[in-house]
Amino acid sequence: MAKWALNRCECGHSFGTMSNSSMTCSRCGSPKSRVLKNFDDPQSLSEAVAISNMPKEIAKDISGKLSSYNRRSQKSSSSNAHPSRLIGAMREATGDDGQLTLKSLSRVLDRMEISETSAEKLIGQAEFEGRLLREGADTWSWLQQTS
Ligand SMILES: [Zn+2]
Repeated sequence: MAKWALNRCECGHSFGTMSNSSMTCSRCGSPKSRVLKNFDDPQSLSEAVAISNMPKEIAKDISGKLSSYNRRSQKSSSSNAHPSRLIGAMREATGDDGQLTLKSLSRVLDRMEISETSAEKLIGQAEFEGRLLREGADTWSWLQQTS
């Protein structure tokens, strides 16, 4: 199987090569480069090359964004309830007096067959985000409009 390598030339330029191809720098033509890292596929290699040739600060910023993006997408794929559906359930559970109770929300969640979260968790989250204000032992009211 072909191996892909990330090379760094003495001039500071990074470039990718396949295992048995020449390691001549693609910028200055010098053969004096060393292998920094090996990869199993050209896709990872080209990403690594792009990041290596970026100014350090930008590279750090981008790889940070990539990993937080990956974390986020893994998290959302584990739950099939769309956030707006959950907000809808909470709106539905709000009475004419503008108040929401654990009981009314549990009932709506049941009816909408939302089982991946609980009324307690949803209200706790909304309270934390500053959307709901606790009014009593089992009563909350909305602090702000949510579209
Ligand atoms: Zn070079």
